[in-house]
Amino acid sequence: MSLKEYRKKRRFDTTPEPSGYEEAPAPSGKAFAYVIQKHQASHLHYDFRLEWNGVLLSWAVPKGPSLDPSVKRLAMQVEDHPVEYGDFEGVIPEGEYGGGTVMVWDRGSWTPEVRDVDAAMAKGDLKFTLYGAKLKGSWVLVRTRGFGGKRSSWLLIKHRDRFAGTKEITLEEPGSALTGRLLAEIAQAAGGNVEKAGAGDPPTASPKAKTGGRASRVARASPRKRIRAK
Ligand code: MN
Repeated sequence: MSLKEYRKKRRFDTTPEPSGYEEAPAPSGKAFAYVIQKHQASHLHYDFRLEWNGVLLSWAVPKGPSLDPSVKRLAMQVEDHPVEYGDFEGVIPEGEYGGGTVMVWDRGSWTPEVRDVDAAMAKGDLKFTLYGAKLKGSWVLVRTRGFGGKRSSWLLIKHRDRFAGTKEITLEEPGSALTGRLLAEIAQAAGGNVEKAGAGDPPTASPKAKTGGRASRVARASPRKRIRAK
């Protein structure tokens, strides 16, 4: 595990993303961090991240997770990210690697359902439990051939349990788990491309129509104050 590739792709004097040069927190025996970042870059995708060995193992899931156990979602493994990346919500400048808007769509913790996570990763079959604000219960990431037999192709699948269902969670709960904001609102607050970011929000989820989330309620109550506070 190394952050070499992550750092190579980014210019930390230009992008607000963390460099990860701070010491990674030591394993504490507690549950590990889990986060999904919704990322409107050249294409919309959901970055699925699990803390392991002091970094965030990362997969880009183009369609996002599905609660339906019969639906397998392609998850392309990408470079490990620093643990503190999981707190990043904001705008990566256009022209930089991953340029666009990033939302902390879900967060919480995870526990392995296997004895040996490293062996499970090597085998390409990692079963785990999520304790997120949106995603809960048992899931699996399984490596798949296909797409040219690349080793980076995995499938993200929900296991059958009481948290499974047919609810379209990406459409019905489009806002940030951190701030309640939609992509367009995050872009606006950070001086990003609001139109491009908004293309990643569901058409029904305009900021005015949206419910839930502390930030959105504050925004509706005092729009002027919010602009000043930015
Ligand atoms: Mn991404």
